[in-house]
Amino acid sequence: MRHLTMTSVLACFAILGFSTMGQAGLEHGHNPANTISTDVDHPDSFRHFAPELPAMKERVPPVNTEFGLHVSEIEPGLFFITDFIYQSAFLVTGEGIVVFDAPPSFGERHRSVIEMSAPGVPITHFILSHKHADHNGGGHAFADIDGLTVIGAQTIADSLTANPLRGVLTPTDTFDESLSLTVGGVPIDLQTANFHANDTDVMIFLPDQKFLMAIDTITPGEAPFMNFGATANLDGYMENFETFLAYDFEHFLSGHVAVLGNRDDVETARDYAFDVHDTVYSLWPSFLDRFGANMELTGFENGNLAYRMTIEEVRDDCADQIIDRWQDRLSVVDLWADSHCETVVLHAIMH
Ligand SMILES: [Zn+2]
Repeated sequence: MRHLTMTSVLACFAILGFSTMGQAGLEHGHNPANTISTDVDHPDSFRHFAPELPAMKERVPPVNTEFGLHVSEIEPGLFFITDFIYQSAFLVTGEGIVVFDAPPSFGERHRSVIEMSAPGVPITHFILSHKHADHNGGGHAFADIDGLTVIGAQTIADSLTANPLRGVLTPTDTFDESLSLTVGGVPIDLQTANFHANDTDVMIFLPDQKFLMAIDTITPGEAPFMNFGATANLDGYMENFETFLAYDFEHFLSGHVAVLGNRDDVETARDYAFDVHDTVYSLWPSFLDRFGANMELTGFENGNLAYRMTIEEVRDDCADQIIDRWQDRLSVVDLWADSHCETVVLHAIMH
């Protein structure tokens, strides 16, 4: 048997679209230990996963461009774009346009929708939230713009200089911890953090628009992606909910799914993450007893096997509780809860 575990984590959310492919659910089942089968009659068939919740589907915005994208002006001059898997934004000012992230999945369409939304306004600034190619590998589409100011954290610039990532622009202007700038009179605050990438994440805040962008964090309306957004730092991931909520924001752009987030979404994601955390830690006192029992069961011949069995037991007990409590509040909990529990189990082993 193969498992949906840490070892199969993708760098980011490349397969997120999978969650929107759910068939009309038949019976609602859960067996996190097994690989999902494509065979409709198999006990672990994909058909046993619940469909997306209606409340989530209702929030999905319409395609409203000839390019197959959704684009909307969420505050005067501030535009939100999604291709229904990835998200980005751009700000139109009297001085020029500021682009925040360029997912490669937008391709050539990115420049086209900006031109459509603000004809003739030059693109002057490009700001990277983090270096990952799935959110910024479309930067090359902006590379031919003369005098483009590309802003990123110094650590991101160093890392990209040493190891270029396909399509990702290397910053021309860098900062260490934070940077406040204004473009055309609009203030933009950048602050480094560590909740996702293995080097630096940047939170992008537009105070006048009450807009906060923190990529690869929450998935509005849904349980987080596998292993809490494939975080490289669970402690940082957990701590940053309060950091986000300390900002005076109404819009929260997380980079994923088609839905733009809000304060409620951040609070719900925080409550979910802490519930998973607390559930694993409530089971933790039984870990060594369970391990002893599994050692006995396997005849003291294979410690690794007994250890893995124990990890799975705690993970699955946790996932059952989490699915019970959250399946009516967040979409796709049954798909990812076991990975969230396993992430905390591994954390508990080491802390
Ligand atoms: Zn990422």
